Amino acid sequence: ENGACGGAPAPALPRPADVQGIAHTKIFIDNEWRTSCAGRTFPTLNPATGVKICDVQEADEEDVDKAVEAAKAAVQRGSPWRRMDASSRGRLLHKLADLIERDRLLLATLETLDTGKPFLQSFFIDMDGSIKTLRYYAGWTDKIHGKSLPVDESFMCLTKHEPVGVCGAIIPWNFPLLMFMWKIAPALSCGNTVVIKPAEQTPLTALHIGSLIKEAGFPPGVVNIVPGFGTTAGAAIAGHMGIDKVAFTGSTEVGQLIKEAAAKSNLKRVTLELGGKNPCIVFADCDLQLAVEETQKGAFYNQGQCCTAASRVFVEESIHEEFVRCSIEKAKKIVIGDPLDPQTSQGPQIDRQQFDKIMDLIESGKKEGARLEYGGVAVGEKSLFIQPTIFSGVKDHMRIAKEEIFGPVQCIFSFKTQQEAIERANCSQYGLVSAAFTTSLDRALSVSAALETGTVWINCYNALHAQTPFGGYKMSGNGRELGEYALAEYSEVKTVTIKLSETM
Ligand code: NAD
Repeated sequence: ENGACGGAPAPALPRPADVQGIAHTKIFIDNEWRTSCAGRTFPTLNPATGVKICDVQEADEEDVDKAVEAAKAAVQRGSPWRRMDASSRGRLLHKLADLIERDRLLLATLETLDTGKPFLQSFFIDMDGSIKTLRYYAGWTDKIHGKSLPVDESFMCLTKHEPVGVCGAIIPWNFPLLMFMWKIAPALSCGNTVVIKPAEQTPLTALHIGSLIKEAGFPPGVVNIVPGFGTTAGAAIAGHMGIDKVAFTGSTEVGQLIKEAAAKSNLKRVTLELGGKNPCIVFADCDLQLAVEETQKGAFYNQGQCCTAASRVFVEESIHEEFVRCSIEKAKKIVIGDPLDPQTSQGPQIDRQQFDKIMDLIESGKKEGARLEYGGVAVGEKSLFIQPTIFSGVKDHMRIAKEEIFGPVQCIFSFKTQQEAIERANCSQYGLVSAAFTTSLDRALSVSAALETGTVWINCYNALHAQTPFGGYKMSGNGRELGEYALAEYSEVKTVTIKLSETM
């Protein structure tokens, strides 16, 4: 049937799956489902309603030991995984991506139930990102190789890239499936095995992936999933003598604990993806509507629960008033509600603790004299929904200007000169991402050179790709995820030097 104007009909929007009971709630080790050694479970809640979705088996130290044992056996020389040729590893990663495509509706629904993020965002952004990450690293498996090196001619010298071994991963609740893939895809591409702990708030999509890993045909022990809490299962991974590398995404405070535990155990390698207080600089010569749109997407996407959240927006004085006015108009159009409803663009915060932290920061902004332009209140009683909030007149010393809010709060500052904007943007302990909005190529280049962040976006925001490295300067982290750069984090390099016979 044609649309009203005779054009092609708009494609039907996907609808959430009808989830009747959760199939996978146990610990996944050696391609088998296990109950917790201590016999404990923990509930996972729907943040939109506060209602329990199900109980999940709770892994702690003993279960992590078992997972590490399985992962160690699976990566031992001579194991099926180690003997498998590199392109077959790639085929397994593609197969896992195929299965996620097949189960996309169910996975997106589970993700929305467990996190409260709007269903269409789960369906398009989280699923697409996960699938593309897997396919990108599937393509790398048989292209990871060393070099031959020109040393003194009496030697032949070459390098070999080998897996690091057992890789631990500890991931947060804001992008559960996507972070799962950011960790396992490069690790498996390089031939490692994995013990991964999803966040205690959001274990469900990770556990469904356990069933797909088995179905795809990965050998037992290659991926092991240990749902549980940070101070028990997480700490056991960080301090484990049998784990050779740990990759963490979450708060800077916990990142410091992970690095300390790694140093005090076996000096395992550590990569950290931590917080941000990300600056955007909006110059008077920008496309104003684009800048309003992108900075607001940056501030409010995923209920503001992003390490990349655009939380400090510096706007040139001459367009400041207009920018604030347009931002308020745009924020009014955000639809807060049931995240399973395809019309909804903003869901609840993840839990009461995060909600209280955000509301406390909003109060501090008001007390410290920032101008509350829009929002600033909870929506509904006893719920975890917060109206998108815009402050202007924010000063650099205020708490909302310095602390990671992790909620739907946009802080707008005004600046006079480029030099001033850059200095204030860089004045942070963090250095994850930044953005600039300008139509001047010259300015875009000089500003991107001056900003002290791992990623700089020009005239866009949250433009993340599996092909491009992602990570932070300063206290935003160590190492890089994604792209070719991540492969180095998951490979050991062995130098082989051969003395040649001199009878030539
Ligand atoms: P968190 O850092 O406590 O949790 C992230 C992961 O680390 C979870 O899997 C958790 O179980 C685990 N963990 C917690 N304590 C641990 C420990 N001692 N040892 C090992 N693992 C441990 O984050 P949170 O408490 O859920 O959120 C707090 C703040 O962290 C947020 O307000 C936000 O500022 C920040 N955060 C950042 C990200 C990010 O993407 N960078 C994600 C989530 C939270």
